Amino acid sequence: MKIQHHISLKDYNSFGVDVNARELIEIEKPEELLELKDKIGENEQLLFLGEGSNILFTKNFNGLIIKSTDEHIEVLEENEDTILIAAGAGLNWDNFVEFCLNQGWHGLENLSLIPGSIGSSPVQNIGAYGIEACDFIEEVFAYDITKSEFISIFKRECEFGYRNSIFKKRKELFIYKVNFRLKKKPEVNISYTALKKYFNESGIYNPSPAEVRKAVIEIRRSKLPDHTKIGNAGSFFKNPVIEHDKFLELLLKHPDIPHYEAENNMVKIPAGWLIEKAGWKGKTRGEAGVHKDQALVLINLGGAKGSEIADLSEEIRLDINKNFGILLYPEVNIL
Ligand SMILES: Cc1cc2nc3c(=O)[nH]c(=O)nc-3n(C[C@H](O)[C@H](O)[C@H](O)COP(=O)(O)OP(=O)(O)OC[C@H]3O[C@@H](n4cnc5c(N)ncnc54)[C@H](O)[C@@H]3O)c2cc1C
Repeated sequence: MKIQHHISLKDYNSFGVDVNARELIEIEKPEELLELKDKIGENEQLLFLGEGSNILFTKNFNGLIIKSTDEHIEVLEENEDTILIAAGAGLNWDNFVEFCLNQGWHGLENLSLIPGSIGSSPVQNIGAYGIEACDFIEEVFAYDITKSEFISIFKRECEFGYRNSIFKKRKELFIYKVNFRLKKKPEVNISYTALKKYFNESGIYNPSPAEVRKAVIEIRRSKLPDHTKIGNAGSFFKNPVIEHDKFLELLLKHPDIPHYEAENNMVKIPAGWLIEKAGWKGKTRGEAGVHKDQALVLINLGGAKGSEIADLSEEIRLDINKNFGILLYPEVNIL
């Protein structure tokens, strides 16, 4: 266990926002979590932190941050078709995806290059290019901070949905390990439009999982700003899901509106399209801005305060509501 006091979080969040935390505790082994009992005061403000790629700090964090540095990978069981692997919460997500692929364990290739750690992957059920983490998660292991006990939650109890899970509600659960079941026989999913287009254009008709990873990395690099160079947290807002009648109303005014069918006769609209259509692409407010190529990505142009980025996001939210009658909700955790 490593404990630091009054520490800058600039290197602990992908927006690169410079705020301080009162205390940061890094946990390497699950047993160390038991020692937290004596360290957490009454009414203590707590935050579980991964790599900070989905968090916007708007002020100093006057509480205790707990972060896993456990990077272990363990094979638990194996048969002809699948393999069950346990991964420590502190492991970098993309390093895990690459490691698995190199071992011949497939399935996660579409989720290549998503920033963050294993421990946060179930929280918002990360997803990209037609796949979600929950397609491969079998069991999540957590420490209940309030009861000081270790628990395990099977996939069916995780309430996984679009960028959602039970872990968004149950803030007392610190995830320290996740079990994934991967495939041993290559079976790729290139149904997502951007991937289909990539392989049609490159003339590869039966891509291998490694080729899918390469494609996903190339597409992501061409579309998204590198958060190690320009502070950002990927998509700032979730794609709104609206009633069918509301969609028909919008279609009359905007015949070019992109849309996807969602559950229960609802329609999903790309938030980036709404923001771009409302004229926000490339706009700035001081050092906070909307990316010039990706309207869904808010950026720190240099020394932006978290509150400035949050103010810009609120201005956008109000404007989208005024223009389209649609409320956007942040995908990023604003603290
Ligand atoms: C450039 C860029 C592109 C992105 N693209 C995508 C994408 O394609 N798809 C996608 O889904 N996301 C994407 N994201 C968002 C981000 O990568 C994911 O949300 C990721 O899972 C965050 O991981 P993290 O470790 O940085 O979590 P953090 O930002 O540190 O935390 C995220 C949330 O998880 C909680 N948490 C963290 N660790 C734990 C733990 N051990 N136990 C319990 N709760 C915990 C935190 O309290 C917080 O609520 C992108 C981000 C960036 C910067």
